[in-house]
Amino acid sequence: MPCLLHTLKTVCLFEKRLEIQKARCKMTKETIEQVLKFRDERNWKQFHNPKDLAISICLEAAELLEVFQWSGDDVWCEEKKDKIREELADVLNYCILMADTCGLDMDEIIQEKVRKNAEKYPVEKAYGHKEKYTGLRG
Ligand SMILES: [Mg+2]
Repeated sequence: MPCLLHTLKTVCLFEKRLEIQKARCKMTKETIEQVLKFRDERNWKQFHNPKDLAISICLEAAELLEVFQWSGDDVWCEEKKDKIREELADVLNYCILMADTCGLDMDEIIQEKVRKNAEKYPVEKAYGHKEKYTGLRG
């Protein structure tokens, strides 16, 4: 049984890792405005309807998936990180454009989804399990 000090150290390390991840996983308002400005400077908004943007998101997601094609056991594909960055940016750009075109607040819809997922996947049932919520027991 781990001692209290060991447990505290583990918790601190976990929290520090979360802080680092939070710092890396962010998007500023300026970034969103830059994406929209890029579109507007080219007068491309006229082409951006929800259907074509949804198609574009899927196509870019497929390009992201292509990075992992034939990678075998190498599920992280560290050496392909540049390509992952590029394709993930394409997906995110189209997501921003989709949200803007549909008049959706990205913070609001993501927070709403996290709340819904928290109900579907309560920590006490889902912790450490990968089953779909319909298959969770407990
Ligand atoms: Mg691409």
